[in-house]
Amino acid sequence: MIETFPEKFVAGVVAHINADHRTEMRDLAQGLAGQTWTEDVEVLHADPCGIDLLLRAEGREERLRIAFDTPLERPNQFRPALIALIGRARALLGIPDTSEEHDDDGRNLGLSDGLYHYLLATSVREPDVLRRLREETTLQDEGDMQIGPEQGQFLALLLKLLGARRILELGTFTGYSALWMALALPADGRIIACDVSDEWTSIGRRYWAEAGVADKIDLRLAPAAATLAALLAEGQAGQFDAAFIDADKEGYDGYYEQCLQLVRPGGLIAIDNVLWGGAVADEEAQDADTQALRALNAKLHTDERIDLSLLPIGDGLTLARKR
Ligand code: CA
Repeated sequence: MIETFPEKFVAGVVAHINADHRTEMRDLAQGLAGQTWTEDVEVLHADPCGIDLLLRAEGREERLRIAFDTPLERPNQFRPALIALIGRARALLGIPDTSEEHDDDGRNLGLSDGLYHYLLATSVREPDVLRRLREETTLQDEGDMQIGPEQGQFLALLLKLLGARRILELGTFTGYSALWMALALPADGRIIACDVSDEWTSIGRRYWAEAGVADKIDLRLAPAAATLAALLAEGQAGQFDAAFIDADKEGYDGYYEQCLQLVRPGGLIAIDNVLWGGAVADEEAQDADTQALRALNAKLHTDERIDLSLLPIGDGLTLARKR
């Protein structure tokens, strides 16, 4: 089956070809071929002019050639374009999205594409260095773990409102949220950033240095629970203004309890992914991550140690103010 998408559909993710990027695009496309994007979508072939997909769902398979009217302009447009096109292809073929992944670029739950892009276009002031880090992250296998630009900007705003100087981050990944927060801190502000991956955080370190904030981010490559326990043992309870929890979901409750000790009264604990792509409200979702998030959400609801708000930004963000 051949399906050519009309210019108006492709507009927004595809721009006119820039000859300078032809070789780059071809190399990237060859790298993409053979990858499985979700359990039910395999990329058979990809090039700057189109992609061949194999879609599997409900015991049937469909092959689909998607030709771009105009080739992609830049390599970093490829993955988001592909995600959008796969969604469109599924809809055209009547194949439901059976993937349990939350393949949504960290966008706000329930917002239409058009309204989300309006929100981004009219409110986000993402510095160039952050945009490039986000786009590089998008190309990684786990790229959808990073927060969206509107959420990064929101965290930065909260830190400025708090007058925050000392921050904890649990789950640094490629360093995008840490960079937003570091840029929001005063010159003597510091983030203790916890992660276990040297590979992911090394991407962030390049951009932190370029942005001139590398000395504000103290990266601790160790299990976050151990790093937080060490801070408590050093007598750092009550010494932090805010914490951002965005690490392994089964560890969330433990991280929350440790952060509640480390953050000062009046300080903020922000907890990401608390709506988990909607799974927390789906009775059939009983995997360990969903259960852990559901239990923590229920616990926070009646936790007298905090003031609370759960916002439907990104994948759901809980704000807890320590009383
Ligand atoms: Ca997250």
